[in-house]
Amino acid sequence: MTRVHPVVAIYPGSFDPITKGHEDVARRSLRIADRLVVAVAHTVSQAKGGLFSVEERLEMVQEVFEDDDRIEAVKFEGLLVDLAQEIGAHFVVRGLRAVSDYEYEFEMAQMNRELWSGSETVFLTPNQQYSFLSASLVREVSRLGGDVSRFVSEPVLRRLQRRSAG
Ligand code: ADP
Repeated sequence: MTRVHPVVAIYPGSFDPITKGHEDVARRSLRIADRLVVAVAHTVSQAKGGLFSVEERLEMVQEVFEDDDRIEAVKFEGLLVDLAQEIGAHFVVRGLRAVSDYEYEFEMAQMNRELWSGSETVFLTPNQQYSFLSASLVREVSRLGGDVSRFVSEPVLRRLQRRSAG
């Protein structure tokens, strides 16, 4: 069905790097949205111990979703609600893996609504096989020489391998 006014969703995160869990959530969101903007945050919080630059993270997201022109990627700095309003997003997509994600996600959704009353957040759960997967674990396992090919797509795997080789 083609809608006159396409439903646009925005999926923010650090995507350092994008994992198959993120990919799963992104592709699932297209069951309720016509277009998805993946918003790659400039800054990675210090606690997360970042690996890739924002340009690299953005490129990986673009490569991973090359096959689907309904998904585009942008980088962003500043408040998510400002970007969401600018691009006319109808809702924010976030992934929920376990109860441990819930508290932070709940606070953020409420704060976004305080900042912009039009803000809606839709939570999606990934396929069970990705429910334990996080970008920080992928970085750690890859750094220690473990095989992460089940957890990230080819363009990401190549970059991780180049990183550990260099
Ligand atoms: P991470 O928590 O892996 O560092 P981000 O900060 O980039 O990832 O998170 C962006 C969003 O994606 C968050 O809502 C997070 O809960 C969600 N997410 C991350 N990994 C997964 C996964 N494996 N399954 C479902 N959602 C996920």
